[in-house]
Formats: sequence, structure tokens, C-alpha cells
Amino acid sequence: GSTNNLNSDEDNINVVVRVRPVNDKELSLRERNMLEFPGKGQIICHGTASGQKPKLFSYNVVFEPAATQEDVLEYSGIKRLLEMAVEGFSCTAFCYGQTGSGKTHTLTGPPGLVESGASPHSPEHGLVVRSFVYLFQLIRDRPDCHFILKASFLEIYNEKVIDLLNPGSSRKPLQVRWSKESRSFYVENLFTVDCEQLDDLFAVLEEGMRNRSVGAHAMNAHSSRSHSLLSVRVRRDVRARDVACSTLGKINFVDLAGSELTKRTHSTGKTLEEANNINRSLMVLGYCIAQLSDGKKKGHIPYRDSKLTKLLADSLSGNGVTLMIACIAPTKSNLSETINTLRYAARAK
Ligand code: ADP
Ligand code: MG
Repeated sequence: GSTNNLNSDEDNINVVVRVRPVNDKELSLRERNMLEFPGKGQIICHGTASGQKPKLFSYNVVFEPAATQEDVLEYSGIKRLLEMAVEGFSCTAFCYGQTGSGKTHTLTGPPGLVESGASPHSPEHGLVVRSFVYLFQLIRDRPDCHFILKASFLEIYNEKVIDLLNPGSSRKPLQVRWSKESRSFYVENLFTVDCEQLDDLFAVLEEGMRNRSVGAHAMNAHSSRSHSLLSVRVRRDVRARDVACSTLGKINFVDLAGSELTKRTHSTGKTLEEANNINRSLMVLGYCIAQLSDGKKKGHIPYRDSKLTKLLADSLSGNGVTLMIACIAPTKSNLSETINTLRYAARAK
């Protein structure tokens, strides 16, 4: 909806990779570690399909297993997205990777941390809480402006949109509609919360995550098959002498369904049809991103083909920046999914 446009020489998509540490189970099985980090932004992956030859992948940023949550805040580029959201752009950060690769850990920390009501300043928090803290820092730096923040939190499961802040209505699916006025898609009757301070945003996250885990218990493998989308809209009113103007920006945080669900993907119309039965949103997102980063920005980008891409359309279409955090595991039993994710990430950058 706004008239903002990025300079054409700026990248719309920024791709980073995060490698999780070897876990206890893998340690006890003495699983082989398949990855090496020869230099900045580089990963060597051993035992790839093509004749077992090691393969070198390069990215802007690679977070090795020892990287901290604070490192991800500092070096992923998320701060730029938050600054842009405050300036009136629509930005999205999403985690992509197989189940167990660290997507949720990267966004919201170890299991149960947020739901347990830990202080917003706990060192274990992930990118979302750290971003909230930074957002309020940005706001404090602009005493000349008035800000209104509104947050929402939803889940997409099997192309059904569920409100994570208002699941009382028996988790009844909500409709995604087009608004002529704002020229963007929106979720009808989605609960939004005015957030005046850090604690308000934190409470939204906590409530949504509690409700998400309730759903996960009710249905096996639910959380690995669903996407969660937390959005914070930032309205800024600037008053310079007699002139008043306002901007409307947004930051989305998306914890995607496990990438193992995409299975041999995104190239033909046929696969898009198949996605209907598996995880349509995840596949269409991959398709949109591949199109975008191929520089085919004028070609047809199929945002309308899934719920998730409709809701992310404004940030994917160039009115903002998208950050993809590709999450991988280092060990042998994960190798084929790791290679898929590394290729996917290399293609998107
Ligand atoms: P996903 O959301 O991709 O399915 P999780 O984030 O749930 O994966 O990670 C699986 C497990 O590994 C969790 O117990 C998580 O806390 C742990 N884990 C993931 N990444 C890290 C990390 N960087 N440091 C420590 N533990 C991690
Ligand atoms: Mg998860």
C-alpha cells in the first residue's frame, strides 16, 4: 500500500545460514559431523551425492554452532529490517529448514522459555524478543515522533488460518481477504493488540506460543506442519513544524513448517498442484522467492496461490526486505535435508 520503493541496487532478499550444535543423541550415536567452516560465510559439506566430493557453499553470513542468540541479532541484518519497518516499509524474517534444525530456537529460544514467562531480558531469548527490545530502542530514539504498535499472531495449518491470540472460538479458521483501500491482503476478524511497551509485545508472543503448543498436543506433528506468523505493525506520526505525516510499516516473523515437506520442489505447475495436498504455503513461498531472486521481478509471482504468500506479499514484492535464515544440522543422518536447504538458500540469495 504505500509509495515507498527500495533503490533497485538494494537486495530485497538477504540470506544467512545458521548451523545448530550437535545434540546429545547424535553425540551418543557418535554421528559424523559433515560440515567444515573454511572461511567467512563459507561451508564445506562432505559426502554430498555427487560422487562424495566435498562441496563448497558461500553466503553472506554463516552462523557456526557456537554462535549466540545475540550474534544472530547483531549480524543477521535483522536490525536493518526493524529500522526499515519504523520508516514505513514491510519486512519479513523467516526461518527455513527441516524439523529439528533450530528454526524455533533461533526465533524464540529453547522450548518452553517464552511460555514460562521468562523475563524479556533473559540471555536465552531468540531473535523475536531481541527484536522487540531493539524496536523500542528505535522508538525511544525518536521522541519527535508518535508511534502506535499493533501486534497479531496467527498460524497456518493445511491452508487454514487460526488466530493464536483468540483461539477460543474453537479454533475456527479465518478468511484472508483483499483490501481495495490498502491494496493488500488481510485476515478478517484477526485479533490485534495495541502494544505501548515491551511487556505488551512480549505478552502477545507468550500468549500465542502457549496456544500454539496446545494445538501441537492435539495433533501429532502439528507444529512441524504449520507456519506461525507474528506481525507487528508500526504506525509513525511525524510532526515537523506545521506539517504532519505518517508512515505505516510492518515486521513479520515467520516460523515455517519443516522443509522436509516440500520434497523435490518448486519448478513446475504440477508441483504447485501437489502442494495442495502437502504444504501449499511452503512450496509457493519457495517458488515466489526463487522468482524474486532470479531478478524476474516483472514476471508473474504467484503470491495469490497460498495463504502465507498472500499475507507476505507486500514485503516479498519489493516494498521492504526479506531475511531468510536457513537452519541446518551438522550431522550425517541429516545430510540430504541439509544439502537441500543449502541449495535452496544459495538459490535465494
Ligand atoms: P525446529 O523448530 O527447526 O524444528 P528446534 O528449534 O525445535 O527445531 O530445535 C530442535 C532442538 O535443538 C531444540 O531442543 C532446540 O532447543 C535445540 N537447538 C536448536 N538450535 C540450537 C542452538 N543454536 N543452540 C542450542 N540448542 C539448539
Ligand atoms: Mg519448530
